[in-house]
Amino acid sequence: MIRYISSLILLFISLSVIGQSESHTKTLLLMGSRFELTAISPDQNKASAAIEAGIAEIKRIEKLISSWDSKSQTSLVNKNAGIKPVVVDQELFNLIRRSLKISKLTRGAFDISYASVDKIWRFNGEMTELPDSSKVAASVAKINYQNIILNPEKRSIFLAKEGMKIGFGAIGKGYAANKALDIMSKMDLKGALVNASGDLISWGKDEGGKDWKIGIINPKQKEKVFSWLNINETALVTSGNYERFVIINGQRYSHIIDPRTGYPVRGLSSVSIICPNAELADALATSVFVLGKDKGLDLINRLKGIECLLITDKQELFTSDNLHLDYIQKPITNHKYQIKIGNEHAQKK
Ligand code: ADP
Ligand code: MG
Repeated sequence: MIRYISSLILLFISLSVIGQSESHTKTLLLMGSRFELTAISPDQNKASAAIEAGIAEIKRIEKLISSWDSKSQTSLVNKNAGIKPVVVDQELFNLIRRSLKISKLTRGAFDISYASVDKIWRFNGEMTELPDSSKVAASVAKINYQNIILNPEKRSIFLAKEGMKIGFGAIGKGYAANKALDIMSKMDLKGALVNASGDLISWGKDEGGKDWKIGIINPKQKEKVFSWLNINETALVTSGNYERFVIINGQRYSHIIDPRTGYPVRGLSSVSIICPNAELADALATSVFVLGKDKGLDLINRLKGIECLLITDKQELFTSDNLHLDYIQKPITNHKYQIKIGNEHAQKK
């Protein structure tokens, strides 16, 4: 499925154009999302080789974790829900183990077994009315990360209840971005950046030999950057309700599901997480979305080295305590924690 950032926050990379370009970028569709891989090198061949190596890595991961591909190990685990444990690759086992850690940390707000609601909510424009509440209740009964049983010795995964299903929609892109960047960073480049539809991670230096910077833009004035964030060798991941959603009776329903209710979450319009690890950032962005502003920021404030910037559906911007606003160089208002910025969708209502 093609997903474009139509964006509340548009992120873009600052490129200083000095002499011959050292920046090489390839954009393509991977894991159902638009990926952009950038390599910085004076040597075009080196840059292309690094980009192709990154792409091969993302394709490899997609094969392992996709729940669309009926032949993937993930699909096999799902098919055997309530029947028997399935032995998987160590890599998939570890990804599931890390996903469960985030579930514990967020008390179930993040839950890869959310996927049993797949059949009920469709965010591709097909839905015209709300699903039957009894169906939602039946599907939510199958969501529970505690019923994902790991056996480290056998390297097996067992979904204990029939009809259970796991999916990596909220963590897979971040994982793939980490792994692709890791490979690219070992290929004698000056710098590299992987952008998975707004989930991005950088290494080394940008084209001008400077730190990587990201501009945050008010979608109402797309040409104008209202602040810059230094994202050198770190990840910046954004989850938004502006990419995949459905509108029923004038109400916007986002593709992030509250595992406790089975209904799409409300209240926030976008959540960005900044930390060194794109996978963790990806999972936490989704988690904060589910937890909401107060609980979400409380969680981030308890974690070291992780920063959060969120925008509510009332278009207010809030940040975690440790987000150093001094590296937001030009806030558009002088109120530190509550900057109102435009939100196309909120205004359409
Ligand atoms: P984006 O695609 O905007 O980057 P996310 O990273 O937040 O969004 O991932 C959203 C996807 O995660 C959904 O499309 C769905 O596949 C999956 N998902 C939805 N709700 C949850 C949840 N509570 N926990 C884990 N995964 C979820
Ligand atoms: Mg996510």
